[in-house]
Amino acid sequence: MTNEYSSLKAAWHIEKISRLRDGLQIVPTHVQLIISDLCNQNCHFCAYRMDGGFSTEQFGEMKEGKLIKNPNRRIPKDKAIEILNDCADVGVKAIQFTGGGEPTVHPDHIDIFKHAKWLGLKTGLVTNGLVMRDFETLANMDWVRISLDAGTSESYENIRESKGFDKVLSNIRTLVGVGTPCVIGIGFVVTRENWEEIGKACEIAKGLGVSYIRLSAMFSEEGSGYYKGITPRIKGALRSVRELETDSFKIVDLFSHRLDDLDQGSPKHEFCGYQNFTTYIGGNLKVYRCCTTSYTLHGEVGDLTNTTFKEWLTSWEKKELYESFDARSCHHCQFHSQNEVINYLVNEPTHVDFV
Ligand code: SF4
Repeated sequence: MTNEYSSLKAAWHIEKISRLRDGLQIVPTHVQLIISDLCNQNCHFCAYRMDGGFSTEQFGEMKEGKLIKNPNRRIPKDKAIEILNDCADVGVKAIQFTGGGEPTVHPDHIDIFKHAKWLGLKTGLVTNGLVMRDFETLANMDWVRISLDAGTSESYENIRESKGFDKVLSNIRTLVGVGTPCVIGIGFVVTRENWEEIGKACEIAKGLGVSYIRLSAMFSEEGSGYYKGITPRIKGALRSVRELETDSFKIVDLFSHRLDDLDQGSPKHEFCGYQNFTTYIGGNLKVYRCCTTSYTLHGEVGDLTNTTFKEWLTSWEKKELYESFDARSCHHCQFHSQNEVINYLVNEPTHVDFV
């Protein structure tokens, strides 16, 4: 597993681990900021829009008795700037711009990205790569991951309900060509429709000169059952693409590494350390425990409509909500691996000197 996707990262934040061990609140290291809930594509496996998706509860909007699954909702620029200023002020280290919707659909996204960088925050972007207006600004982020999820334009159109495969490849090529230290990767969520294109997508990624392609599993109510009958063949395809790896191009196989997480259901432990390290702010300005619980009542822990991020973070309500939380109440979790590490570190493990 490459460093970018290690589950061990919390071990680098040992002072925060100590505070958690003492039962104190911590400032999140990482904030996921959803500046736009609107998307310019319509992926079949989108957790925010698909029927039965894990994050649909508060995502869609009712208009004239009709459910709008792709709401035209975004965080106004001034509010996004206020949130970023607060993040820098309280000591958040990194901002991930992601969906919800597509961040680059926000008309002010470049100004917002630049402001985060200007504040000294580390920045990352998850995008479909269809709109790249300012390659310099994007290439000055710490990382950019472009969701491709296909190896041909036909399946790209099918899966994302959007033409644009060639445009996205061309954008990636230009972004890589800027030649900054930005880590540029490609995302590929393995589905029943696209798994046979794993090899093709990996070859394309390598040809584009990106640092890695990340292959991950789809989280849904079906768990690993979604892949019934094809799991061995998917794993076989993932093994065979290994030969494409070089020192500068990695295959990040989260599919095989985290497939078990799909079936683990509720956490076995009461304490969720992960929610303390990462905070999710939706395009509806609500604050959620994590992206798995985003846009759900269960995950909602605040609302920044009339409150600043700083006020929320230091409020008694937030403290209460975090202290009284039982992770076993979560129906499923994508962060078992991270929580296993955090729980190990927080719970004063025994015999640690017998290294
Ligand atoms: S889904 Fe996992 S990470 Fe999210 S709040 Fe529940 S236990 Fe924590």
